[in-house]
Amino acid sequence: MVEPPIVDGLDFIVMRGSMADALSLQIRSATAAPRRASSASRRYNRRWRNTRAVYLSANAACVLCGAPATDVDHVTPHGMDHDLFWDTNNWQSLCHSCHSKKTQSERGLTAPDQTPPEAA
Ligand SMILES: [Zn+2]
Repeated sequence: MVEPPIVDGLDFIVMRGSMADALSLQIRSATAAPRRASSASRRYNRRWRNTRAVYLSANAACVLCGAPATDVDHVTPHGMDHDLFWDTNNWQSLCHSCHSKKTQSERGLTAPDQTPPEAA
């Protein structure tokens, strides 16, 4: 039974061999990654929730169909790009139905009745 070493600064651990790799991965997934992800994502989610609520109250109608907006959509998919994500010029209010259609078309499941706005 091999106990994994408890070491700070896991990014600097250098080990050799598949057992070492397995241990290193185990340590990373058990400690470093979740701790980093959870605190960051909590902050991120709170900021996003607050910011989108303000945006939706100021932009209450779906820009595509005029229904009450429930979602803030990124006009250009942000692809986890921080600046693109938080750029309010890249935001638009959509209802859930229109947002779902847009998301599907961005994934390649094109909705036949939708044409991109720049294709006029
Ligand atoms: Zn809509």
